[in-house]
Amino acid sequence: MSRGGVELKSGFVAENFTEKSKTKRTPLFSVGEDDSDESQTVQETCETGIQCKRDVESLEIEPGNRSLDDVNRDWKESKTVTPGEAVRLLRRGHAKTRELESRFPAEQAISIRRAFINKKIDKLPFLNYDYTLAVESCCENVVGYTPVPVGMAGPLSINGAADVFVPMATTEGALIASTNRGMNVIRAAGGVETSVFNSGMTRAPVVKFPKAKDAVFMKLWLDDKENQEKLRAEFESCSRFAKLKSVDVTIDGNLAYLRFNAHTGDAMGMNMISKSCDQSMKFLMETFPEMSVLALSGNLCVDKKAAAKNWTEGRGRSVVAECHIPRDVVTRTLRTTPEELAYLTTTKLHIGSSRAGAVGGQNAHAANIVAAIFIATGQDAAQVVSSSMCSTRMEVTEKKDLYVSCTLPCVEVGTVGGGTILAPQRACLESLECAGPNMKVPGRNAERLAEIIAATVLAGELSLMAALATQDLVSSHMKLNRSKLQLYTDESGKPTQFQKEVEKAEHLSVGKGAIRLKRPTTQDVVHCSNIL
Ligand code: ADP
Repeated sequence: MSRGGVELKSGFVAENFTEKSKTKRTPLFSVGEDDSDESQTVQETCETGIQCKRDVESLEIEPGNRSLDDVNRDWKESKTVTPGEAVRLLRRGHAKTRELESRFPAEQAISIRRAFINKKIDKLPFLNYDYTLAVESCCENVVGYTPVPVGMAGPLSINGAADVFVPMATTEGALIASTNRGMNVIRAAGGVETSVFNSGMTRAPVVKFPKAKDAVFMKLWLDDKENQEKLRAEFESCSRFAKLKSVDVTIDGNLAYLRFNAHTGDAMGMNMISKSCDQSMKFLMETFPEMSVLALSGNLCVDKKAAAKNWTEGRGRSVVAECHIPRDVVTRTLRTTPEELAYLTTTKLHIGSSRAGAVGGQNAHAANIVAAIFIATGQDAAQVVSSSMCSTRMEVTEKKDLYVSCTLPCVEVGTVGGGTILAPQRACLESLECAGPNMKVPGRNAERLAEIIAATVLAGELSLMAALATQDLVSSHMKLNRSKLQLYTDESGKPTQFQKEVEKAEHLSVGKGAIRLKRPTTQDVVHCSNIL
């Protein structure tokens, strides 16, 4: 089998892997004699008896017998070198791993990088993946990809429109089942309503003046409408989608932080706004020659850090979801009452979070849902920090029904750019009918995604709060979030003391028809968390 000019030995494709015991595999790569000081052999060992399908890398990369000088010269002159020669160059420090993709097809470049790293990553797949866009703008020094299971929660009816199924990428068992339960409740209640009430991405460069008075002068200069228009023209010259909303200046001694706030269409907008800020700062430096830009981001943006500023002012899309749930739906489907849920909301979400000093944490587990949808749809996972800030309210209405709302002021999402360009992530966006740019109303696709996230958060909140109210949390997690396979064994394959402890604790139930504890005592929960 030949791929990109390299002879690939058998087993280089995904195959059924059914080893039942520790199996030694043949060496993958060993370098020639002139590199004997670096000679390493990869001993591959299968450590589990688990049947699985995986990519098996058994590419033999021949080091070749050309002198290192010859190989090095050819590399420098951009002439052909073999994969084995490339590994030798990497080991000698004559080549850089980042150069590989410009010299070899992606899968070959990755094989070479894996051989060079020579670490035990054979179970990390790398075949059958389209690297074209990924290596161009999403990831450097690629060695493979981590598949994350994607489940669907739904159907969910939002604003009376057609039902959606929400893709969630997670390794947290019980999360999707729980979200689904919340969606069942929402369906029984006639659906959820959502609205985006603010939109704007922010970036705040920090600049320095000789004196505080100069910084204040610049702030006052920016209060003038004409000056604002000049700055806007510079800002918006970089993209047809960047629309400047405001620039707020915060003074600290002779420092000034200019917080630019702009519409960015369907893009999450960090690249777009950074480019526009860069252009704006060049213009301001011409107007204020004594000003120096210390950094394009002065942390007052605030990106990827928990901050009250975002919580109160919003960032990205600010969105609210709400639902009125008839009393009988609450008692029938959640086995609790509006009063119990409202009381738990006060004690846990409001008093508990306030005593913890949480910023934007007045919710049960918004981050779980936000992270799972972010990963499925190619969002910037680090922005879960602000995007999952959420105020969840549950109140008893005059008719004794339940009112629920989730307000998320900082959902930082996009449907163009970033990881949304990758085919699997785009497929998830397509399933939500908000992939790519919205041609009619730029920004509408990103807003739709933010609304779906808020609605799904509401479903998750309902379900978890009900599970806590009825004390079903531990038993459902024991059922759905704990592996039933023996994960921890000693060298002879026997369960470790830790595993025994885990199993002992699973009188809380792990399949096997063991006792299912309905309402665990505090002691059970403490014992359980101690051994986790
Ligand atoms: P981000 O700022 O979120 O990192 P980028 O600015 O890198 O995203 O990518 C957005 C790209 O998509 C820009 O080149 C922009 O011109 C283009 N684009 C096309 N249609 C739209 C749209 N409807 N909204 C926003 N950007 C769009």
